[in-house]
Amino acid sequence: MQKPELLAPAGNMEKLKTAIHYGADAVYLGGRAFGLRNLADNFSVPEMAIALNYCHERGVKVYLTVNSYPHNDALERLEQYLREVAPLPFDAYIVADPGVIDLVREISPERQLHLSTQANTINWRSARFWKRQGVSRVNLARETTLEAIIETVTRSGIETEVFVHGALCISYSGRCLLSSAMAGRDANQGECAHPCRWNYHLVEEQRPGEYFPVVEDEGGTFIFNSRDLCLLEHLPELVRSGAASLKIEGRMKGINYIASVLRVYRQALDEYWADPNGYRCRPEWMDELSKLSHRGYTTGFLFGEPRDVGQEYHSAYIRSHEFVGRVEEVRDGGMAVIGVRNRIRLGDELEFIGPGMRSASLRVEGLTVLDSHGNYETASANPNQLVLMAVPAGIVPFDLIRREKTSASN
Ligand code: SF4
Repeated sequence: MQKPELLAPAGNMEKLKTAIHYGADAVYLGGRAFGLRNLADNFSVPEMAIALNYCHERGVKVYLTVNSYPHNDALERLEQYLREVAPLPFDAYIVADPGVIDLVREISPERQLHLSTQANTINWRSARFWKRQGVSRVNLARETTLEAIIETVTRSGIETEVFVHGALCISYSGRCLLSSAMAGRDANQGECAHPCRWNYHLVEEQRPGEYFPVVEDEGGTFIFNSRDLCLLEHLPELVRSGAASLKIEGRMKGINYIASVLRVYRQALDEYWADPNGYRCRPEWMDELSKLSHRGYTTGFLFGEPRDVGQEYHSAYIRSHEFVGRVEEVRDGGMAVIGVRNRIRLGDELEFIGPGMRSASLRVEGLTVLDSHGNYETASANPNQLVLMAVPAGIVPFDLIRREKTSASN
């Protein structure tokens, strides 16, 4: 049995560095086209070269997503793009469309290919088929049960990657036309507007314009709203299944999401690997995940159909904490430069978090804004400002800062 890789999203350079700080073994990123998630910041070709260098120096693998389904009129542009990125030392491309696979084979025959979840592989024969096509890894569809994962690993002989955490589609792993139909944005070209998470009303055919609220609670009703996947409690079964890679979803999510999810899964995976018999899922890990903005958690299809636990009817998001800043630089005398992301005021009780579930709290007693026209004391620092403030011992750059959300929070 191999220790599975922990694979994290990197929607831009800052997210990539955060993922590495919090323990990713590998990251996946997209270019400005053809990688789905076209609404994430993504990477230009020169930025990809910098990212690859940064990751490889730290022993982290990098996969490029080329998993959209291009129409004929996009093929020329795709070819140009693949020729541009061909010299870059990506560890693999993540692909879905057989036409794209064919084109990569022509341009970069030595490139490892990972089959995207968009290709909907749910059985061992499909996995074996892709292996025979020269694909080295399949990311199984989220609709795969644990039993099917085990059988696929055993019978196909191909490396498998499974999603452990993140958003779910209500449709078949993203093969959905809802966004195309309602917002003119094609999910399979990376432009999903997520209409499945909108709030819906009921309209009777003979009364157009009369919207009847269908209310589960004061938040409304989110009839298509899938809960988010969280397989933390089943990590041992997934490791024992022989899956080669555990993947976290979320190239569009913020660095606070990446930090919290990774530090939990990193520690859980390391603890299980070090001592499988003595391992137990710690309550503080689930507490940490519940502090993130999420739509309620589900184990998805791991044990069969999710049925009533798969949808979240009560609200769009649950969030107990808010991200307020990042440690940019640690200075002498217990001081640090903080990049403010959400207003910080004197008297705020802040929590500093780092890898390995490191956490320390502190009450803000002083804030100095670092400004090119001169530094000044303030009672309240605003987003995008750099401030100098006292910090707890042991914090390092890239650690994040959050505070409990109250009704007074902005
Ligand atoms: S609308 Fe929802 S179900 Fe459809 S692709 Fe987008 S996120 Fe997935």
